[in-house]
Amino acid sequence: MTRIQLQDLRKEFDDVTAVDGIDLTIEDGEFLVIVGPSGCGKSTTLRLLAGLEHATDGRIRMNDRDVTGIEPKNRNIAMVFQNYALYPHMTGRRNISFGMKSAGEFTDREIEKRVDQASETLDIADLLDRKPQAMSGGERQRVALGRAIVRDPDAFLMDEPLSNLDAKLRIQMRAELTKLHSELGTTTVYVTHDQTEAMTLGERVVVMEDGRIMQVDTPQVLYDFPEHRFVAEFIGDPAMNMIDVSLETGSAVHDAFRLPLPTGGAYSEEWTEANRAAVLGIRPEDLYLAKERPNLGQTTFTATVDVTEPLGDSLLLHCSVGESKFKMEAEPRATIEPADEIEVMYDPARLHLFDPETGECRY
Ligand code: ATP
Repeated sequence: MTRIQLQDLRKEFDDVTAVDGIDLTIEDGEFLVIVGPSGCGKSTTLRLLAGLEHATDGRIRMNDRDVTGIEPKNRNIAMVFQNYALYPHMTGRRNISFGMKSAGEFTDREIEKRVDQASETLDIADLLDRKPQAMSGGERQRVALGRAIVRDPDAFLMDEPLSNLDAKLRIQMRAELTKLHSELGTTTVYVTHDQTEAMTLGERVVVMEDGRIMQVDTPQVLYDFPEHRFVAEFIGDPAMNMIDVSLETGSAVHDAFRLPLPTGGAYSEEWTEANRAAVLGIRPEDLYLAKERPNLGQTTFTATVDVTEPLGDSLLLHCSVGESKFKMEAEPRATIEPADEIEVMYDPARLHLFDPETGECRY
């Protein structure tokens, strides 16, 4: 049972605030992913959890025990790194057992039993007698995972463990990590800059920017209900379209269109009723070509196609409406050419409005 709490956690390096007062609870058995762009403080957060950095301020608790000042070796956590951190002169078996041997807490028999168990879980029996140089990247990462799981730690901390692998292997290892987690049920904190990896692995995802948490939610809630423009643009590929508009009594007005906003939503109607500038956000897949969905009967606006990109399962259109640019998807074999005029229909329930000053989602 391992529940981890971060309370107003802060880390400063000289004049850089890497982690700027984070509050977060990681539930027992949870797979939590921290995602954000380079330099947002995600690795520092993980290193604070591991005890590899000392917090400038704030507390870390594991199962209500304050571990803020406790040495890494006394936290009973296992880390998995991007560069595997295997000893090059040791075989897979020795790499996996080394930590247990040097801790001196286990008999040789117990160590052997645990290595064999881990090797079965990860299907790495044929790697045990090889040295890292004779393994592929994916095999090395499996051995590094083996080293982490033999110790039966209270938590796994993983820092971009898949980013040195090629795209295909990454997808395969993603599925293996999910399976491993469902077998072991160990609390896991996983850091990545890759939003797809975050969405596919995380039971909950923390989005960070500039040392702060912007939102913590399940992947689908982050996608459907971003609380901030930063989250809306970071999660999803192609990114959510953002178009500058002004609000006039319940409509979003642009030099080339006027979109009535639906009423009775869960958002701030008070905010949208006032006349003000706003940023309209809509995901490419929530826009349709009117001619492809004639029976939807929703409001349309006219746009011009600038570029078409065949993606195989759809045709990505880069379009202009007045001075604004946006992207949308059409049927894969649609006959659409650059400079074509198109009628675009949108799903009003999927619109978002962001405050242009603060980036907060208001609608
Ligand atoms: P990346 O994905 O590039 O690893 P990150 O989100 O993990 O980025 P951190 O490595 O946590 O970000 O770094 C956060 C900020 O703290 C950055 O501005 C970084 O330059 C700074 N930083 C991190 N470690 C140190 C250090 N040891 N000394 C000084 N500044 C540091």
